[in-house]
Amino acid sequence: MAVLINGTELAKKVKAEVRLGAEAMVEALGEEARPDMTLIVFEGDPVSRSLVAMKARDCEAAGIVPTVVELPDETTEEELFALIERLNADEKVTAILCQLPVPPHVSTKKLLNLISPEKDVDGFSARLDGDITDLAACTPAGVIRMLDEYGIEVAGKHCVVVGRSNIVGKPMAAQLLMRDATVTVCHSKTRDLASFTRQADVLIVAAGHAGLITADMVKDGAAVIDVGMNYVEGRLAGDVDFEGVSQKAAFISPVPGGVGPMTRAYLLKNALRLSAEKHGMGGTAVGSRPNE
Ligand code: NAD
Repeated sequence: MAVLINGTELAKKVKAEVRLGAEAMVEALGEEARPDMTLIVFEGDPVSRSLVAMKARDCEAAGIVPTVVELPDETTEEELFALIERLNADEKVTAILCQLPVPPHVSTKKLLNLISPEKDVDGFSARLDGDITDLAACTPAGVIRMLDEYGIEVAGKHCVVVGRSNIVGKPMAAQLLMRDATVTVCHSKTRDLASFTRQADVLIVAAGHAGLITADMVKDGAAVIDVGMNYVEGRLAGDVDFEGVSQKAAFISPVPGGVGPMTRAYLLKNALRLSAEKHGMGGTAVGSRPNE
């Protein structure tokens, strides 16, 4: 029976680290150094609005000041980009996030490219030629912390990532490569997915397809991290058949209670880090680990 990777408990630890770090910044430099986050959301999408409200509450609990900017859905691309440029230039603004998805008349690619990397709290602008000391996208950063915390070594191991999106699969693969894993990335056009997943020492699944990974697709003793979030009959479910796979794997993360809380916690970590960098305090000054 696999060891359960408890993302809920680990996220509490990460949030406590952020709170301590934020207070250390204020103690050292005064209240104006308190980390902040500007969250932009299109008001017509209730899911996005509730996600942003949740992120704003997370900020408050961690000693980070949130500012929520709600935009009418008719806001033009030009108006949104002008707002981002103003926020990029505003010295008082440290971290910027624009909740996805945006309406179809706005180019997501252009939007994400426009947010200054120094203020990109989602970490989407992390570079492929970066290293483990750089800020990373929240979900891959949260997954790496889960692996570290449970003593799951990736160097020299075969890590298989299912999914190649720009916000999860690709940056996840990059993070694993930086840590000396041998990485295979599978996607919707991969033929015979099981032949790859069965080779994985560490299997990370981010496909958005409930129950995609079954026990017969997993090697004995593997570590399985389920990033997927799917709603099945009104309930949140991952991409991994938890019951079956937990009989075979050595480690498994559940959904809910796995990667989701860690992604939220790492958004706060990234905000603290951007703030520390802005004020010339290195990661260690705010109690961060080497890759934060
Ligand atoms: P996406 O739709 O952009 O990408 C999905 C990827 O999975 C694609 O690259 C696609 O090629 C691949 N894929 C789809 N079906 C497949 C199949 N049958 N076999 C192999 N590959 C397949 O999604 P995303 O933004 O990367 O998110 C992936 C999943 O992770 C979603 O369920 C999303 O809700 C979830 N997610 C969770 C968190 C979290 O914090 N837990 C964060 C981000 C995304």
